[in-house]
Amino acid sequence: MNICLHCGKKLVGRSDKVFCSIECKNIFNYNKKKNTKSETAIIDSYLHRNHEILTTLMGNSKKEVFDRLIISRTGFKFDFITGVYKNKEGKIYYLVYNFAWMEFSDQKILVVKKAL
Ligand SMILES: [Zn+2]
Repeated sequence: MNICLHCGKKLVGRSDKVFCSIECKNIFNYNKKKNTKSETAIIDSYLHRNHEILTTLMGNSKKEVFDRLIISRTGFKFDFITGVYKNKEGKIYYLVYNFAWMEFSDQKILVVKKAL
């Protein structure tokens, strides 16, 4: 016996039915979309914040080395990136939109602003 995915009512009729009514189907799909949106919105806001921090730190500079501590204190989230790339020397760069950062040493972070 199948039950409606939204309201839990017993389903009658075709065995491939998953909702008891079009209303339940619509509500279920609306909620699903809403949840997906809020989950991605949280991560989007971390990424935007990271980009804002780098924009402020870099000013007009194209390449700059910062103490890791300075960047940490701004609330920069090192785990949130938009991509990764390895240069010819095998160094790993982490992308935050048009910025790329790299662990220069234990204490130093190199930030590069890429031309769009
Ligand atoms: Zn239902």
